[in-house]
Amino acid sequence: MLHRIPVGLNRVTPSPAGRLLSLAIAMLISLTSHLAWAGDLKKADIEHRFGPPYQVQEKLSEIPAWPLTSSLEQEAGPVAYAFESIDLAPLPGFEGTPMNFLISIDHKGNFINVELLRQREPVFTFRDLGGLGDTLLREFIAQYAGRNIHQPFLIALDAARNRTGLAGNSGVATLDGISKATTSVRIVNQTVLAAASEVARAKLGFADRKKRGPSARVRPDVYDPVSFADMLDNGMVGRLRLTNAEVEKVFAGTEGANLDEYGAAHPDDVFVDLYIAYLNAPTIGRAILGDAQYQATMERNFDKRHLWWIASAGRYPIIADDFIPGTPSPRLAMTQNGTFLELRDQDVEAKNLTGPANLNTSRLFGVNAEASLDPARAVELVLTINRAKGSILPTLIPKQVTLSYVPPASLFAYPPEPPPEWLLAWKDRWLDLTVLGLSLILLCVVLARPRWIAMDSRRLRLFRVGFLAYTLFYIGWYAQGQLSIVQITGAIKTLKAGLGLSSYLYDPISLILIAFTLISFVFWGRGTFCGWLCPFGALQEFVGRLARRVRIPRWRIPLAVARRLEGGRYLVLAILLGAALLLPTQGETLNEVEPFKTAITLGFERSWPFIAYAAALLVAGAFYYKFFCRFLCPLGAAMSLGGRLRRFDWLSRRAECGQPCQRCKAVCAYDAIEPSGEIRYEGCFQCLDCVGVYHDEQRCVPIMLYRNKGKRLAAEHKG
Ligand code: SF4
Ligand code: SF4
Repeated sequence: MLHRIPVGLNRVTPSPAGRLLSLAIAMLISLTSHLAWAGDLKKADIEHRFGPPYQVQEKLSEIPAWPLTSSLEQEAGPVAYAFESIDLAPLPGFEGTPMNFLISIDHKGNFINVELLRQREPVFTFRDLGGLGDTLLREFIAQYAGRNIHQPFLIALDAARNRTGLAGNSGVATLDGISKATTSVRIVNQTVLAAASEVARAKLGFADRKKRGPSARVRPDVYDPVSFADMLDNGMVGRLRLTNAEVEKVFAGTEGANLDEYGAAHPDDVFVDLYIAYLNAPTIGRAILGDAQYQATMERNFDKRHLWWIASAGRYPIIADDFIPGTPSPRLAMTQNGTFLELRDQDVEAKNLTGPANLNTSRLFGVNAEASLDPARAVELVLTINRAKGSILPTLIPKQVTLSYVPPASLFAYPPEPPPEWLLAWKDRWLDLTVLGLSLILLCVVLARPRWIAMDSRRLRLFRVGFLAYTLFYIGWYAQGQLSIVQITGAIKTLKAGLGLSSYLYDPISLILIAFTLISFVFWGRGTFCGWLCPFGALQEFVGRLARRVRIPRWRIPLAVARRLEGGRYLVLAILLGAALLLPTQGETLNEVEPFKTAITLGFERSWPFIAYAAALLVAGAFYYKFFCRFLCPLGAAMSLGGRLRRFDWLSRRAECGQPCQRCKAVCAYDAIEPSGEIRYEGCFQCLDCVGVYHDEQRCVPIMLYRNKGKRLAAEHKG
């Protein structure tokens, strides 16, 4: 008589081990104490790096940065700031520990230098990546020098490639990424930009990069012929007209009051009539300069400076008699949101400009494209009016008047908000994520309805070998999706430091695999990851299969001894978790017990001791199936613990399984079936061989017996 397990899944009552696991997780979380990260350097270290003309001032109290003044510009105040990223943006790296960089920016927000101080990224240690160690990381951060923090930053493996549509833009800073270290590199970029923005906002008056968004760009397609009068009306030309009487009011109550005798005699006459127009916008530029001159000016403006026509009429010109073309005019200054912009004469001899006839000055001024300027927002053009008191060694009394100028918004377009760095990582990998998502759906379907695929042993073998090859080549070597114990120890270190786990967002492939594995624990237990999705596990499967093919003798370890040895991986796991909590630096070295980085992440491109270790484990796997998985793997141990969350006994069993039938136990290459016939889910790699036997009338002994008995009974009955 056959005892069929009811169709559907059997619920599992929480085991004591499951409760233990929950308790362990709770303890781990409660153990995590908040640990503040602090910088490594003293003032003397900064002085060592920034010699004359720089002078390093005391570290600021309001923000951890050293102001750098210049002996060449004694009066100018700080010309740059140096700071450690770990003080401002301690973003955990892939390994869980924040990297630290010494960053320096000048007063315009340009990076002077980014220097690596400390890092523990697994991919940049132990002379990895072809023996280069952290050389590639140092080369990567060297690319920041000369870039401005207001530029959108794009990372591409091939800088010429433009997957996000940003690289073709002149304002975009495209950095060459590092193959096999894409997650770490994105975290580096986020760290550098976040730390620099903090300082720029606090000390340079820069608007919050996130709050302000990118600057507007001129719409080259917008052009309407307009007259000068129209431009004055619609705001394309800004104007400030002051009479002598109005200027007198500006000086009222100061030493400069009542010094202008001519002005007092002609109070209604014009003192200054100031004009400004933003020339980069074609409608304004072509109207002011004329078509040919506009085209020639823009062609010469190859570095995309912001250009204004600035002119004056009246008694007070915008340039003094001793003005030197090509320099800033001491009478003019420009600011935006309180940030000073270096406004410089362009030394362009423009002729026949549209404008009032009575101008005393009409010149082109410009601001560097790298400056933190948004041309669609108001700029303040500040005119300094000087009055002199006394005839011998007169005292100069300056007063400022301001013309606020905003060109019409219709001339500009705002580029879309640059997506956060982590989202760029997801966008960059949309194809890989789609392939991964489809393969996980396929795996879910197979595991939810394993009968069809398992019934035919050839079909099952083809599917399993095909999927494992996909796991090894695509997930592992190509998509760099090997999950690792480093992700668990890194999470412990990150939580211990009181930092969030947001850095996991930078590695979408791993994050999807982690999420899928956690969900799979509940339905199928540990084996879904270890049996199907672990690239090193797949590599061991192939080595094991090859060994059978070439008839390499198998080691025989008595089952009782093997079971005891399997406890070794829990011991390894406990050591690594303890080290992550108590000895983080040594823990990184201990994590090398995992050969994943050598065999999968770096594809055996590593120094020979690591290659020899990984190869030795694979050779051991040739003699004893899945040697590393069964006796050593700390991640496998963690998976087995996670598998305790399983709620269903989904592999069907019969009453005869184990008593007396041992057929499935014999086919299980992983020793995951007890002599009693029960499945030991923590050792099951979900090869589905036992599912095939269970449903196969030619292989399942109880079915065969039943069939034979039925035939005999029928024959006896006939007789
Ligand atoms: S036991 Fe370790 S190596 Fe083996 S499949 Fe699982 S995670 Fe991979
Ligand atoms: S044969 Fe063993 S490893 Fe394979 S599914 Fe069955 S119990 Fe799991």
